[in-house]
Amino acid sequence: MAERFDRTTTTTCGYCGVGCRLEARAREGRVVSIAPALDGPANRGHTCLKGRFAHQFSRSRERLTTPLIREDGQLRSASWEEATARIVEELTRIRRERGPDAIAGLASSRATNEDCWAMQRLMRAAIGTNNIDNCSRVCHSPTSYALRRSLGYSGATGSFDDIEHADAAIIIGANPTEGHPVAGARIKQAALHGLRLVTIDPRRIELADYGVLHLAPRPGTNAAVLLGLAHVLEREGLVARDFVEARTTGFDAVRELIAAYSPQAVQEITGIPAADLEAAAMIYGQAGEASILWGLGVTEHKFGSEVAQLLCNLALMTGKVGRPGSALLPLRGQNNVQGSSDMGALPDTYSGYRPVADETVARAFEQAWGVPLSRTPGMKIPQMFDAAVAGDLKAMFIFGEDVAQTDPNTTHVVRALEALDFLVCQDIFETETTAYADVILPASSFLEKTGTFTNAERRIQLVGAAIEPPGEARTDFDILTALSRALGHDMGLEAPADAMREIAALTPEFAGVTYERLGRRGLQWPVAPDGTDAPILYGERFEQPDGRAHFAALPYKEPGDAADDEFPLVLITGRRLEHYNAGTMTRRTANLELLPAEWLELHPDDAARLWVADGDLVSVRSRVGRIEVHARITDRIEPGHVFTAFHFPEVRTNLLVGASADVNTSCPEYKVVAVDVRPVQEAPSATPALASAG
Ligand code: SF4
Repeated sequence: MAERFDRTTTTTCGYCGVGCRLEARAREGRVVSIAPALDGPANRGHTCLKGRFAHQFSRSRERLTTPLIREDGQLRSASWEEATARIVEELTRIRRERGPDAIAGLASSRATNEDCWAMQRLMRAAIGTNNIDNCSRVCHSPTSYALRRSLGYSGATGSFDDIEHADAAIIIGANPTEGHPVAGARIKQAALHGLRLVTIDPRRIELADYGVLHLAPRPGTNAAVLLGLAHVLEREGLVARDFVEARTTGFDAVRELIAAYSPQAVQEITGIPAADLEAAAMIYGQAGEASILWGLGVTEHKFGSEVAQLLCNLALMTGKVGRPGSALLPLRGQNNVQGSSDMGALPDTYSGYRPVADETVARAFEQAWGVPLSRTPGMKIPQMFDAAVAGDLKAMFIFGEDVAQTDPNTTHVVRALEALDFLVCQDIFETETTAYADVILPASSFLEKTGTFTNAERRIQLVGAAIEPPGEARTDFDILTALSRALGHDMGLEAPADAMREIAALTPEFAGVTYERLGRRGLQWPVAPDGTDAPILYGERFEQPDGRAHFAALPYKEPGDAADDEFPLVLITGRRLEHYNAGTMTRRTANLELLPAEWLELHPDDAARLWVADGDLVSVRSRVGRIEVHARITDRIEPGHVFTAFHFPEVRTNLLVGASADVNTSCPEYKVVAVDVRPVQEAPSATPALASAG
């Protein structure tokens, strides 16, 4: 009997930020099965249905297999030489006529560290601009901002292992069993073995059933919840005075601020019963070791970065940081969203989050790359779209992102893409965004490349190529380095391993990283020159100039949107277990049979008031757009709120999301959108209207 597979490659999952290690088995150039690596540090022999089964996309007939060029409004197949020549001609022209800052690029948080390194180098050294960003802008940029300001490094303070070492945990604004399923399973197991779990979310997430307490705040009131928890911790004498005294600054201002956030006052703002808030504070404060996990329900708000700082406050005032079981663990979304930012695919920082305006840092990069580099921070993603609409940004190079589906204020994004003189997309499928491209480059999936991803616990892990890219598609690394060469900047990097050597040489946190040292378990940065890594940060000092963590005295402020007479319900958006992000990959697998369409979750009381029955088609209208979607009646959602995801282009949920964004990072406020919901009698329209509300 023939072997069922002829090649097994150890790799890392291409979906979420848990970073499960996988064994990909291939036969005759196709992946035939995927199994968990038994020694995977984050997954310990487990995967979810995405990592294990959602790989058929890699040989979908819809894969891009040849470059495409737009001519007379139509896309046609082209050779790599033609596509490259067109890109070089257009980008060179725009740079000559309008300067390098008229061009912008987006790196992909689904691509490897080495790919993202090549992308930011292409934009900085070959084009000459800091207009480079990645999708962390629309997810965890507030987390990065908060961790850097409060503690020092932009990363989790511990590891997933801390879940098992904790006596208690708070999970706020995250739904791990759907968004990060293997981490969710580890939390479930820990709860079954005694972890005292407090969940905080407007929806009754599945993990609430495993916890000891669930708090359901009104959307947009997280800050008040956290200030109230801090109030009770102070009132009950649960502040770690010695730790605060020895290792932090700024607590006095916080103590003054939280005096006003009594449980009764917080109940008024959040709707959480005062007794429940008090109980939650006691569970966290009295635990020997306790961790805090959070997701986009914290960050995707007008004051998301401030709320993330308030989470740091809780850990600092109780001294619950820097020890096994006491960790701050942001659940990162895309599988390499940590890494793409670590690599400097950001408009204001080089790798390791060092400012582009820092003369010493900029000179080091100039010396290594042999070109002058701009000291001016570039545009963030929303600014890029604004500049395109205003006519100041003329070209974009979008690598592995479907901004026309995933980014907020879709109508504005589409206007921006249409306004560009020239758009290059590098992707594995045609998407909502590639519809506006002048050149589309066929790229590779995670199963077809080598390099590294960095998961949510800062673990840098190797990715192996299980199969070749289909047709004439190339690896992202090959495409980006070749394009840079064609644009006149030869990076001198033949393979991803060369890029990692350069990353290590230019990035202090990666100083000791080599592929050999990464081995099967990976390493958690910062990695010292001798290869010692850091599963737990801040055991002795915080990464601040004074070595101390910094409290932030930030009051509760109202969200950017709120229900009113015209838009009486609040929409929250999120993810579902079976699909991932724009669904570009998972909708091309058997997962589509498990979940073939999107729906809107509606509480039974609201459904009865609106005359909506389970399965009815409804119109959802916000201040900026309208969609149609089928309703599902469930008491997992609180009255007054509705929930949907954005995995399906047929339901362009982000048409509903406006321009409100985090005050410090421009991360969109996806989680609080006032909407009006009504039953619809007729069949759904094929394409949702891009028109404004009304
Ligand atoms: Fe992949 Fe995340 Fe599922 Fe692990 S939990 S298999 S990383 S999608």
